[in-house]
Amino acid sequence: MDWRVGSAVDRGAELRGAPGWLEAAWEHPEAVAVRVGIGSIEVDRDGLLVTRAVEGAFDAERHYLLGHLDQRPWFVTTDHGEDGLVPLRTVMDALPAVMLEVAFTGVGLATWHAGSRFCPACGGATRVVRGGLARQCSTCGVEQFPRTDPAVIVAMVDPDDRLLLGRQPSWAPGRHSVFAGFVEMGESLEQAVHREMAEEVGLELTGVTYLGSQPWPFPRSLMVGFLARAGRAEPVAAVGEIEAARWFTREDLRRAMAVGEVGLPPFTSIARRMIEAWLDGVLPA
Ligand SMILES: [Zn+2]
Repeated sequence: MDWRVGSAVDRGAELRGAPGWLEAAWEHPEAVAVRVGIGSIEVDRDGLLVTRAVEGAFDAERHYLLGHLDQRPWFVTTDHGEDGLVPLRTVMDALPAVMLEVAFTGVGLATWHAGSRFCPACGGATRVVRGGLARQCSTCGVEQFPRTDPAVIVAMVDPDDRLLLGRQPSWAPGRHSVFAGFVEMGESLEQAVHREMAEEVGLELTGVTYLGSQPWPFPRSLMVGFLARAGRAEPVAAVGEIEAARWFTREDLRRAMAVGEVGLPPFTSIARRMIEAWLDGVLPA
C-alpha cells in the first residue's frame, strides 16, 4: 500500500449530507458492504475481505458509507456485532492495497462510533450523520468528528548509517522496531521526535526529516514517520519502557533476522517499511 498517492476512494464529502442521497447509494444495484467491528473484520478462507450485496433497509446508525470505488458505493456495516469477525491485525498483511484502505477506514469508523455515543460537550445522546463521517448531539446539536491521535515514528541513524532498533517489554520475544510515541498537547511533530528519542534512549538529534504517514486504526492513530540523525553515542534505554536498544549495521540486522534472534513488525506498518527502506539504502540522505 502506497499511502503517498491520492486515494482511489471518492468519499463524496459534498454530497453525503443531501437529503435521500445516502439511501439512494444504499439502493444502488451494485452497492457492496463489508462487515466490521472494533478492530475486527470479515474475511474469507483466503484471507480476503468478504464483500456482500447490501440487504434490508438503510440504517444510518449501523451502515456507514466509505465512498465510491470504481463507481460503486462501498459501505461498512456493524449489523451482527463481532460474530464471525477476525482481528484485522491478523489478516492485514495479506490484503490488497485498496482493500487495506477499506479495512482501515471501516474498522477505524466502527471503533470510533462504538465509543462516541454521548456528546463530549453536554453528555446528551449522539446520532450518526453524514453517512458515518460524523456524529451530532441530539440535545445541543454539537457535531463531533472521528478523532485521530498523531504519533511520531522515528528511524534513527548514526554517522556510520547504523539504525537504532529497540524493544518494549510487552512485545513478542525477539520483536524489534524503530521508536514511536504520541504527540503531546502543544507540541509540534518535530518536537515530539526530539522529546521521544531523549526520553526513550537518551540521545540528542542532529537532524529530523519527514518521511511519510499512514493511518493505524488500533484504535485511532495517524503514524507520522521521520528519519532522525544522531551523533556516535550509545543509547540508554528508559527503565520500564524500553527493554533493549542498540545500533545495527545492515549485516547485523540481516544476520539476527536469519537466526531468528530479531523479528520485525508487520509489513503493513510504516515501521516495517522504514526499516526495509533503510536495509535497501533508500532512506533520504
Ligand atoms: Zn451535546
